[in-house]
Amino acid sequence: MKNNRIGLILVGSMLAVIAVVVTLLLQRQQTEHAEQVRVQGLGMVRSLAALPVAVLVPGKGQPGVLDSILAYRDNPDFAYAAVSQDNGRNLAEVASAGALVPPPAVLALTGFAERQVAADQNRRAIREFYGPLASADEKLQVRIGYFEPRSPFNMKDLPFYALIALAMFLLVPLIYLVIKREMAPLAALGEQLRTVAAQSGASPALAAASADPANADSDADVRGLAHKLNRYLDQASARIRELEQESVASMASGRLLEYGSNKMQAVLQCLPDGLLVLDPAGEVTFATGKIEPLLGVPVAEVLSQPVEAWCRDPELRAMLARFRSAGLDTRSQMTIEFNPAGVPDKRLWATAQALLGHSMGYGTLVVLRDATREHLARQAGNDFVAHVAHELKSPLNVIGMYGEMLADAGIDDPAVRVEAINVIQDEVERMNSLVNNLLNVSKLEMGSMRPERHRVKLDDLLRDAFQQARSRAENKGIRLELQVARDLAAVSVDKDLFRIALNNLLNNAIKYNQSGGSVVLAAEEGDADVVIAVRDSGIGMTPEDRERVTEKFFRVRESGAEQRGGHGLGLYLTNQIVELHHGRLTIDSELGHGSVFSIHLKKMPALVEGGQVL
Ligand code: ADP
Repeated sequence: MKNNRIGLILVGSMLAVIAVVVTLLLQRQQTEHAEQVRVQGLGMVRSLAALPVAVLVPGKGQPGVLDSILAYRDNPDFAYAAVSQDNGRNLAEVASAGALVPPPAVLALTGFAERQVAADQNRRAIREFYGPLASADEKLQVRIGYFEPRSPFNMKDLPFYALIALAMFLLVPLIYLVIKREMAPLAALGEQLRTVAAQSGASPALAAASADPANADSDADVRGLAHKLNRYLDQASARIRELEQESVASMASGRLLEYGSNKMQAVLQCLPDGLLVLDPAGEVTFATGKIEPLLGVPVAEVLSQPVEAWCRDPELRAMLARFRSAGLDTRSQMTIEFNPAGVPDKRLWATAQALLGHSMGYGTLVVLRDATREHLARQAGNDFVAHVAHELKSPLNVIGMYGEMLADAGIDDPAVRVEAINVIQDEVERMNSLVNNLLNVSKLEMGSMRPERHRVKLDDLLRDAFQQARSRAENKGIRLELQVARDLAAVSVDKDLFRIALNNLLNNAIKYNQSGGSVVLAAEEGDADVVIAVRDSGIGMTPEDRERVTEKFFRVRESGAEQRGGHGLGLYLTNQIVELHHGRLTIDSELGHGSVFSIHLKKMPALVEGGQVL
């Protein structure tokens, strides 16, 4: 209600101010016009008064100056111009339409004057300017009259003003209604703001203001709206700041999570085993790069694909299918061993494990591990047992056979007795060597073989080994040669272990040789080391075999080497012994042309005693 009143007062006072301003403007315009007419009238009268009478009052039928004034008048208020005698007779006159020339005034002696002629003859009052005609003999006066401008507040104009007032009276409520209608959205906006403030609950001040009945009226007006809008904007900017802070915090925690997840992924990628995670539907959701060398399938082909799309291994597929159908059981774990179709040389272990949360399953984790080494070792172990059994069985058979021979006839026949004893001794020696090698290997692997290194004169050691091997070489018809300088530098070795290494090399050089071949045991001294070489003219080996001969249980499967008894431990043991002495074993070999096995040992600095180098 109050707002309506204020609105009406506002509009009314606005119209009153407009009316006053318009009135003042009109009055001012009227005054200026009157002044202008006065200047013009007096000027014209003075100019006309200076003209000769004949020009002003021409003969009958002739145009005078007054006619030209009428014709060329530039003032719409021009009423008349006349030349009059004092007695009231007009000698010449012109008048604009609707104007009558009034009787002249008594001419003032002083000259030019003006007077107002009331609006009785004419409908409007007239301002007249007059003055004596200088050239006339009698008393003549020149007169010019102008209509007075209309008064803005003429009673005659009352109906007109009444009409305008009525129009305004009707306009006021119309304007008010229009303004009110235009303000309606603002009021609605205010209402909305109040609702939002009440809902957000973050502005107790605004809520209080809205609830206060004293403020109820003012809330509806524009001031109240602006007030609320300001407060709402404050509240909104505070909320935006809060949200910004929350967003910064959540961004930071997001980054932390991302960092953690990246770190975890990096850790998983570094694992030596390949990992696959399958979702409950059987599609791969995560795979580490290791699966490519293990399964021979690129990660890109595996990700987001069902098992059937990438897995070419029936064992793995069967396990994953069985595992999926087994349901959610944390204990269900399954491991298989297989040769992957993509990399047939490899042997893999695949272990599947259910991934379970509190109440739901996340899928299956598959760990793929390279079991090639273990597989080969297992195979080698099995081969070894079979081999050792065979190696032990054949000498035992021979010993048994010769034992029987001795028992049956050997006592009487000295030749049989000697032969039987020799064979039995050889076989015992063979078994002894095998058992010794096995014992040494096991000691090496248990770490209980500790070399007791002493300063040793190498040529003595080499000569001993040479002597031991000589009878075996002669038995096989092989020439054995020793090429060792007497003043060879001393080395620091464990004599017993080193003797085993030398014997193995010499035995192999004789064993993998043909009758009539040769074996050379040589030693040379370099700047920093001593090189002991066992050179033979035997069967040699291929570069691939040469790479592998120091592996445990490795034996060349060539027909030539295979037929010679052995158990693949000699070179493994020799290499280990050389490494225990911080030396190096190198092998040069050519298939069919012989081999050179070289041991490189560090030289010991020479001892000087009594000026003599030892
Ligand atoms: P073993 O002689 O008992 O089989 P080794 O470890 O001593 O075991 O030798 C491993 C393999 O290396 C042998 O089976 C043989 O084929 C090959 N080999 C060793 N020495 C020689 C050699 N001097 N010439 C040719 N082949 C050799």
